[in-house]
Amino acid sequence: MNITVHILLGSNQGNRENNIKSAIAELKHEGINVLKISPFIETKPEDAPPQAPFINAALECETNLHPLALLYLTQKIEKQLGRTKKGDKSPRPIDIDIAFYGDKVILTPELTIPHPSVTQRRYAAGLLAHICPEKIHPITGKTVKILFEEVEGAR
Ligand code: AMP
Repeated sequence: MNITVHILLGSNQGNRENNIKSAIAELKHEGINVLKISPFIETKPEDAPPQAPFINAALECETNLHPLALLYLTQKIEKQLGRTKKGDKSPRPIDIDIAFYGDKVILTPELTIPHPSVTQRRYAAGLLAHICPEKIHPITGKTVKILFEEVEGAR
């Protein structure tokens, strides 16, 4: 069964745009069906020590991988593209986060879905608003478009 998933990509080290493009190519190579790609935008790091700006993008994809299998795949691609440290806030060639996995809510030590950035980060809500404005966040019951307006308004 194919599930529609939304993925957030970020890079603030090396050739940022190429890193994002390579991550998309790897996802495709691994059998993920990439349906939509948001514009690439430059963002300032939030809640992190001073460091270079990011390029971020969001994807709408289809996969038949289970959530953890998808997480492990994204982590494998992060490693392939030169990411060494995980779970810290230092610069990274690539960060791949699973924003939505269909309408599932997953709260486990390894996976939080929807990803918290969807409701907390302007760039995340903004990029998703480009590709899936009417998508309903399964916890808040609000559309991505409304969530974006809310994080915009909170600044
Ligand atoms: P990061 O350093 O931002 O790549 O995140 C580190 C950890 O976040 C990983 O070890 C994952 O297990 C965890 N994580 C929790 N929820 C998610 C999610 N929705 N997408 C990607 N990673 C997640």
